[in-house]
Amino acid sequence: MMIPGIPGEGEAMNKILNKGLGVAAILCCLQIPGGCSAPEQRSSYEPLARTILARGLTEQGAYRVLEQITSVGPRLAGSPQAAAAVDLAAGIMRDLGFDDVHLEPAQVEHWLRGEPEQARLVSTKAGTIPLDVCALGGSIGTPADGVSAEILEVKSFDELRRAGEKARGRVIFFNRAWDQSKLETFAGYGPMVQQRDLCAIEAARAGGVAAVARSATTSLDDYPHTGLMHYDPALPPVPAAALSTKSADRLSETLAEDPSTRLYLWMNCRGEAPVTSYNVVGEIRGGELPSEIILLGGHLDSWDLGAGAHDDGAGCSQAVEALRLIRAMGLKPKRTIRAVLFMDEEFGGAGGRDYARSDRRKSEKHLVAIESDRGGFRPLGIGIGNQSTFPKFQKWEPLLQAVGLFWLRPGGGGVDIAPLAAQGTVMGGLVPDSQRYFDFHHSARDVLSAVNPRELEIGAVAMAVLAYVLAKEGI
Ligand SMILES: [Zn+2]
Repeated sequence: MMIPGIPGEGEAMNKILNKGLGVAAILCCLQIPGGCSAPEQRSSYEPLARTILARGLTEQGAYRVLEQITSVGPRLAGSPQAAAAVDLAAGIMRDLGFDDVHLEPAQVEHWLRGEPEQARLVSTKAGTIPLDVCALGGSIGTPADGVSAEILEVKSFDELRRAGEKARGRVIFFNRAWDQSKLETFAGYGPMVQQRDLCAIEAARAGGVAAVARSATTSLDDYPHTGLMHYDPALPPVPAAALSTKSADRLSETLAEDPSTRLYLWMNCRGEAPVTSYNVVGEIRGGELPSEIILLGGHLDSWDLGAGAHDDGAGCSQAVEALRLIRAMGLKPKRTIRAVLFMDEEFGGAGGRDYARSDRRKSEKHLVAIESDRGGFRPLGIGIGNQSTFPKFQKWEPLLQAVGLFWLRPGGGGVDIAPLAAQGTVMGGLVPDSQRYFDFHHSARDVLSAVNPRELEIGAVAMAVLAYVLAKEGI
């Protein structure tokens, strides 16, 4: 679907902008002995920022891009849907008139979930109760007739190690719960990632026959949340799965009453040969310093249970929409503003690595890369740089406040852009309110209807405003 700009409005905006600069300059020269200071000139971007916000909220282009991206379904790296999303996204960028729209190859792992997984607890007291389960990404399947064994429940790897021989031959049930005490939910995610990522390794080390982990989510519901896990080549691989939080509670309660409860698990997921996939790249070529780049990015791949709307169709649609807004306003950046939709963030980060090491980068200098990969919720702020580089950016905070954000702070980045840091690129990240993100993340709930078009658009506007001033003023 083509998303039209409004021809001619750019010229008018340039007039408004030039007028604004003139007024600011006059006021400034009257008030400050010795002439204008830089901050007053920079504040003249605020009318422009507000105009971009009004336009974004009216046109809601980010949501229209997100509708298209999610229409292909889940976009697991290496899948036919991911390939379709690559073509679709490149087509969207071309229709929008971006410069140099192209694909850059990335070698990605390809894993298949197979048919719907099955799990049930079997207790002499409680009977047979089905559990909501999904394979973790990268897991092997079970034998054709499944795995059935008694269960050892643990809340930590230390507890598992202390269990010693009791773990042998059992399904290891990792039931560490999310630490709800943290206001910023990402602070609670780290320990849950560790549980998910290493559960098969720890289960195998202890002599277990399978690993099931409590889902990494803040919500108590029936949806299992997948995510990447790893094996240790020195240990036998065991099947690894996630249980919904309600199923984990049910299993734990049943075990408390009947320690002889067994778990039956069946999965036929499997790894396939690696696949060549692509990052999708488009830009607004800088008028004066085209090889200096401000990058806006998200990842086009997703997990396979939902439609990858928040994670990370949202970030992709915001990056595309930011460039659309800048073009539609008729703005001519001095440096290049580039949107990169990375492939394979979820399954190992191949797209980000291959982008950073591409020969194309040799003639380019990425000044700043800003990633949006925390969902399409109302943005609170943008994290950028570190303690030593942040002072260069601090002056732009009022511009973000003009478009509804609260702050600009040190910190920020993301898996896809991280490999650029070695080239001296300043890392940035959009930071939305995180309270609801993990309700949806990596689950069947991550669908288009979970995203609010206005909240999504504010993030795109903030990225557009910051990218434009950085492309204009440099760092
Ligand atoms: Zn993501």
